[in-house]
Amino acid sequence: MRIRIGSAGIPLICKGKKTADAIDCVSKLGLSALELEFVKRIYLTEESAREVGKVARKFDVSLSCHAPYFINLASKNPKVIENSKNLIAETLNIADICGAKIVVVHAGFYMERPAQDVYKMIKDACCQFESKAKLGIETMGRQKQFGTVNEIVKLTEDCENVAPVIDFAHVHARGNGGLKTKEDFKVILDKFDKIGVKQLHCHMTGIKYENGNEKHHLPLSSSEPDFRLLAEILNENQYNVTIISESPLIEQDALLFKSWIKSV
Ligand SMILES: [Zn+2]
Repeated sequence: MRIRIGSAGIPLICKGKKTADAIDCVSKLGLSALELEFVKRIYLTEESAREVGKVARKFDVSLSCHAPYFINLASKNPKVIENSKNLIAETLNIADICGAKIVVVHAGFYMERPAQDVYKMIKDACCQFESKAKLGIETMGRQKQFGTVNEIVKLTEDCENVAPVIDFAHVHARGNGGLKTKEDFKVILDKFDKIGVKQLHCHMTGIKYENGNEKHHLPLSSSEPDFRLLAEILNENQYNVTIISESPLIEQDALLFKSWIKSV
């Protein structure tokens, strides 16, 4: 499948089910990807991860995992960095067991330090991991967070096990409404295409922003940014992408986006 569309966490309509049972529900909805949200805690045991993996393969639902939010690989406190690395290793282990292709991570904060110093800290930490699943470093939506598009391009080039995670809403917010035209979206896709990324993992939601910082998520109908432009690009080009909906209308907006895609 060249384009997979899925949900961040279990779709609202499938709630109340164990993850393994929710995958059946995801597939019946017409979605082909699911991001397991370990943002507060890594809630799958190795045993349940094995079961989830089995069901995901059966229904051809591609899995990814979102690592906990409190990770900071550029903390001024070495203990926080150590703890962050352990959480990433733990998430990668569960990802490998369930067959998830990528673990999404928010890498860290600048905390008034030069961007290149923070880059080096994050690079040194990221390059250490070894796993089947890729370490997915996300483009972030606030000025104080590490994760501009160019930083993620460079990190993808510098660390073999790192893959980019393009959160278009974050890029849009950080640029204070920066994604206005089809070309604005395409420039980003092409940056990663140019460095040989064959499979792009993306997040999708509308977003409220102020002064170059994200405020909160909005439905796709906000057109902030306008994801129909991305759909057009995907219809006209051959990128391999997984689009994960993080909209407040998780599955509804995932299916809306799917309706704009000619062949999925
Ligand atoms: Zn994220």
